[in-house]
Amino acid sequence: MTDHIPVIAIHGGAGTINRASLDTAAEARYHAALHDIVSAAQAMLLQGASALDACGKAVELLEDCPLFNAGHGAVFTDQETHELDAAVMNGSDLRAGAVAGVSRIRHPVHAARAVMDDGAHVLLGGAGAEAFAFQRGLEAVDPSFFSTDFRRQQLLRAREQHRVALDHDGSPLAEDKKFGTVGAVALDLHGHLAAATSTGGMTNKRVGRIGDTPLIGAGTYADDRGAAVSCTGSGEMFIRIAAAYDITARMRHAGQSLQQAAEAVVMESLPAIGGSGGLIAVDRAGNLSLCFNTEGMYRAHARGGELPQTAIFR
Ligand code: ASP
Repeated sequence: MTDHIPVIAIHGGAGTINRASLDTAAEARYHAALHDIVSAAQAMLLQGASALDACGKAVELLEDCPLFNAGHGAVFTDQETHELDAAVMNGSDLRAGAVAGVSRIRHPVHAARAVMDDGAHVLLGGAGAEAFAFQRGLEAVDPSFFSTDFRRQQLLRAREQHRVALDHDGSPLAEDKKFGTVGAVALDLHGHLAAATSTGGMTNKRVGRIGDTPLIGAGTYADDRGAAVSCTGSGEMFIRIAAAYDITARMRHAGQSLQQAAEAVVMESLPAIGGSGGLIAVDRAGNLSLCFNTEGMYRAHARGGELPQTAIFR
C-alpha cells in the first residue's frame, strides 16, 4: 500500500472568550502546550506509529497538562469529587474501548485502550473499570491527584451561581465558560484513522453523570470509510444527536464531504437543540476539520513533516 501523509489534530476544549481576563502570558502557555503535544504525536506518526498509538500518546500528554480538564486538572463534581471519562476507537476495524466515572486511574485514555485491546467489552464504569485497569498494570493515583485549587474555586463559583458546566480565569477562553475536554484524531502512514477523547466532564455535574466523551458515536468515533472524530462541548446535546457518528454517517450515506458534515453537525444540528462546542475530525484523504460554534477552541494540527499550527480563536 502506498504510504499516506500522516495527519494529527488535537483539541483542549472549546468555549467563550473572557476579554477581561485575556492575558497574553496565559495564551502563550496554551500555544506552547498544544505545540509540544502535537509535535510529539507528529514525530510518532512520521516514524510509522499507528494512528491509535499516536492519539493515545497525545491524549496522555494532554491529561498530564493541568491547563486542560482531563487527568490532572480535571473539574469537580457537585460532591467535590472527580469522575473521569475516556474513549478510543480504531478506524480500520471499528474496535473501541471506553471507561466512565473513574477517579483513581492516572491516564483514563490508557484504560480505554486496555478495554479495547481486551476486546470482551466496549465500556466499563466506576470501580469495575478501575479494578480492570489496575489488573492490566496501569498507574493508580489517589483521587486528590486530579485536584487543583483552580478547579476548586471554579466549583465554588458554579455552586454560587447554581450552574453546571462551565470551566479558566486568566486563560484566553473564560475558564468558567469553557469545555476543557481533550482529544486527538489521526491518519497514519498506513492510511488508517483513530480517535481518542478524555475528560473530567462538567464542573458541578451530578455524581454519576456520564457525558458524551466515553459514548462511542457521541463524543468519539472512528471509521476508515468516513472519519475519525473527537468532540468537546455540552455533552448531553452531543449524545442526543450522536454527533461523532453523524459525521461519518453523513459522509458515507449522504455523500457529504468532511467539511460539509462537520458544519452541518456543529453549526446546525447542535445549536438547534441548544448545544455548544466543537469537534476535530480527519478523513482518509487527509482532509481536516476543526469546527466549533463557540468563540474559541484550543486546537493544533500537523500534516506530514510540516510545522505544527496551533490556534485558540476563530
Ligand atoms: N463534552 C464533555 C462532557 O460533556 C465536556 C467538555 O467537552 O469539556 O463531559
